[in-house]
Amino acid sequence: MKTIILASNNRGKISEFNQLVAEFGLHVVPQSEFNLPSVAETGLSFVENALIKARFAAQHTGLPALADDSGLEVEALQGAPGIYSARFAGEEATDAENNQLLLEKLADIPESQRTARYHCVIVLLRHATDPTPLICQGTWTGSITLTLRGTLGFGYDPCFYVPTHQCTAAELPTEIKNRISHRALAFQQFTSAWQQILQNEPPFKR
Ligand code: IMP
Repeated sequence: MKTIILASNNRGKISEFNQLVAEFGLHVVPQSEFNLPSVAETGLSFVENALIKARFAAQHTGLPALADDSGLEVEALQGAPGIYSARFAGEEATDAENNQLLLEKLADIPESQRTARYHCVIVLLRHATDPTPLICQGTWTGSITLTLRGTLGFGYDPCFYVPTHQCTAAELPTEIKNRISHRALAFQQFTSAWQQILQNEPPFKR
């Protein structure tokens, strides 16, 4: 079985990625198994930050590396919180604090102008200097509610209204979110790109 390092220590992500790649004879290990510290996410886009994380992990382990980066873009805030989604209200901010700040910043914005979207990027670097990384992206469009609703999901889900299902992402059953979300779409792209890689590329060929 081939091993790929995942530039994250988030358990949820590790098991999600492992389910995804298991059928390809691949195994994803978290970077903590190699005692890697986390790297500063100094990029200005989701793609740049995902590449920074994957490159750091590949450099330090010599293994192919996967990384993801995601967040929320709000049109009336010119794309904020964007790459700062996790730390919108401060370095150690909780989801509740981030949601609160978002609703405050949008207090004067009418419902018709509260369009937003989640974005997810997944990258694979075959090695640290890979000049053609695999980059997969998914987007989920909705709008920001006036008040928080629902208890499922995480992050901005209680204020992210999903027009196709007429509820917030935090009111949406998990299995539905996992089918239609930005992350699900990026994963789908990643899965089909993998099949191509497996057929064509020596380090991964079965
Ligand atoms: P990361 O990609 O794990 O660094 O996530 C960045 C941040 O984006 C999270 O901490 C959340 O605030 C936000 N985010 C990303 N995906 C979602 C989602 O599916 N629901 C709610 N918030 C999300």
